[in-house]
Amino acid sequence: MTTTSQQYESALRALGEHRQLFIGGEWRQAEGGRRFGVLDPADGTTITDVADGDVGDAMDALDAAAAAQGDWARTPPRERSEILRRAYELITAQADDYARLISLEMGKTLTEARGEVTYGAEFFRWFAEEAVRIHGRWMQAPAGGSRLLTLKKPVGPCLFITPWNFPLAMGTRKIGPAVAAGCTMVVKPAEATPLTMLRLAATLEEAGLPAGVLNVVTTTEAPAVSEALMADDRLRKVSFTGSTTVGKVLVKQAADRLQRVSMELGGNAPFLVFEDADLDAAVDGAMVAKMRNMGEACTAANRFLVQDSVAGEFAEKLGARMGALAVGRGQDEGIDVGPLIDAKAVESVHRLVTDAVRDGAALVCGGHVPDGPGTFYEPTVLSGVPADSEINTEEVFGPVAPITTFSTEKEAVQRANATEYGLASYAYTRDLGRTIRLAESLDFGMVGINTGLISNAAAPFGGVKASGFGREGGFEGIEEYLDTTYVSLPEG
Ligand code: ADP
Repeated sequence: MTTTSQQYESALRALGEHRQLFIGGEWRQAEGGRRFGVLDPADGTTITDVADGDVGDAMDALDAAAAAQGDWARTPPRERSEILRRAYELITAQADDYARLISLEMGKTLTEARGEVTYGAEFFRWFAEEAVRIHGRWMQAPAGGSRLLTLKKPVGPCLFITPWNFPLAMGTRKIGPAVAAGCTMVVKPAEATPLTMLRLAATLEEAGLPAGVLNVVTTTEAPAVSEALMADDRLRKVSFTGSTTVGKVLVKQAADRLQRVSMELGGNAPFLVFEDADLDAAVDGAMVAKMRNMGEACTAANRFLVQDSVAGEFAEKLGARMGALAVGRGQDEGIDVGPLIDAKAVESVHRLVTDAVRDGAALVCGGHVPDGPGTFYEPTVLSGVPADSEINTEEVFGPVAPITTFSTEKEAVQRANATEYGLASYAYTRDLGRTIRLAESLDFGMVGINTGLISNAAAPFGGVKASGFGREGGFEGIEEYLDTTYVSLPEG
């Protein structure tokens, strides 16, 4: 029998020589020989280290991606599809190892990490199926006299910048459609969680992805690396998941070379509970929408807007559930909530909570930073939060549920939409007419009705307003990686 710590050691050992840069099919040191440590958020110790690439390494990666682009675009769709399908099967077969690695570097519980592996792998299965369905059209010009044809071509070499909260899934939902469409790519994973992406590169290599199609540059110099890559005309597309602040910088940078961009940025999801809702179902949904990934998700319910008549009962029930969650190291048995990613995250969550209390909110449960090492925060419910308290206008990114009340549907929609963001939204109601009105009037890219979980590889994930543009997943996801060529033919 292997002990838990042996299992983790084996997950790390499996990474072995892959703690390097992956460029042009080679695993290699950073040119400067530098490395950086990957920290365990549960206690701040160093788990291991990886190569710290610089601008020169990143340009080597772009050289490799550009060199591979032509052949890759000509590779038959079925071959691209089968590479993705094999990678899906490999990830699924190695799900436990992947989950341990994710949990170790990011902190989430093993259950959460297994959920991410299923979700993340699904993008490869979905886009394996989409790779063979790329097609154009043939139509007669309205006035006659010519035929209008369209064909789809891969956009070209892409840059992917991914965040730390879903180290696998935020990669696969960019890599999956890019591979399916015939694009090559340079991936820069988040500094905090580079290990999962390196393992993913090894899996894709094993699945038969040709050298140069996927290149991974781990680095502590994200701004310099992305600036240099984006200053090169060979790079044709940037897909980013992260903060709105960085997204804006990247869109400005992309303007110089008019690179195509997909931006999946911050959110401030409202979670509406109407008095006709099944309240127990709403509490179940709230637990998922709030606590998936410990609240460290851009889709996380950020503001709970509850109708006056049921607000007290909802707060009490949610408080009982949140207060009963076990906080601790994500790899330990019986733990529901792991550490936040770093001390800065804890500080920012705690400040929002203390400011809300100062603004007049009441603590139903939680509200403290637990003693001891690691970057933990107690699951917290706040009731009677003023609508304009900062916790309602900022992305919390932690296990805190602020509850505010409303009296009419019109007021609820107005308040829900009163944010610069527009990613996810949720509503609980049993009224069909209201459901239709909400779907049509909520200014968000995604609306979940009577559910707290909306992410699905088959659905178009993305936002409006300051939450960005572009869609990942669904039939739409592959379009981000395809250009349309129109061909005009005379009448035969
Ligand atoms: P978060 O607040 O979730 O860490 P960030 O937007 O800061 O979100 O980071 C998301 C990703 O963007 C990470 O991979 C990070 O290294 C990268 N990043 C941060 N700043 C820049 C920048 N100026 N240019 C390019 N990438 C950046």
